[in-house]
Amino acid sequence: MIVAIDGPAASGKSTTAKMVAKKLKMTYLDTGAMYRAVTLALLRSNTDLDDYDSVCQVVDELELDIYDQGSKTVVKLDGEDVSQAIRSMQVTENVSAVSAVKYVREAMVEIQRNIGKKTNCVVEGRDIGTIVFPEAEFKFFMIADVETRAQRRQSDLLTLGEERSLEELIKDLKIRDQKDSTRSQSPLTKSADAVEIDTTHFSIDEQVKLIVNHINSKSEQRKKYGK
Ligand code: C5P
Repeated sequence: MIVAIDGPAASGKSTTAKMVAKKLKMTYLDTGAMYRAVTLALLRSNTDLDDYDSVCQVVDELELDIYDQGSKTVVKLDGEDVSQAIRSMQVTENVSAVSAVKYVREAMVEIQRNIGKKTNCVVEGRDIGTIVFPEAEFKFFMIADVETRAQRRQSDLLTLGEERSLEELIKDLKIRDQKDSTRSQSPLTKSADAVEIDTTHFSIDEQVKLIVNHINSKSEQRKKYGK
């Protein structure tokens, strides 16, 4: 079974998806972390993001591992744990450009589909319900106003020791939203059959409850009526 959770940056997807996966005893897959890891590899190798062939070469050569460990997602790049490093502002500022590259997307989508074939997953990202798993049994699209998202991002960054003003973060989020929604490759869009959840005034527990209740009641209905 696949539960797809899409939405813009800092809309509450990650924390919610992680908790939903735990409650439903499913694997949690953070696809944004995968694009971040590729971005880190490209930055570390000083690859010019406009040099398509070099970008493809780095993607071909990198060894990416992503797995749940307790309540944490571990991301390894060529054997090194980069789970923290992929959250830096430098990676964040470059990830939208990297994730817009067709070759990068194809490589990541292949890995995501392979993981989804092997295990029941709650998968979060931008194109999960539309492109990666269009047949997902459950689809959600989370949104929140940009000020709320910036506040969430600000506290996430503080835990990493990075202090940023709200104004700056609002600007960054708007730029990233614009890039993610207007790119030609798998832009961020709500799948027509996804349930939209505005998380602006919701606590994480409320979001989780809403999604889990929806899944449980739909599953019951499907069992009963066969649809
Ligand atoms: O979810 P997170 O903010 O960590 O994602 C980082 C970036 O990765 C997004 O801004 C987007 O550019 C890219 N991404 C994507 N497709 C996904 C998940 C993330 O393009 N499925």
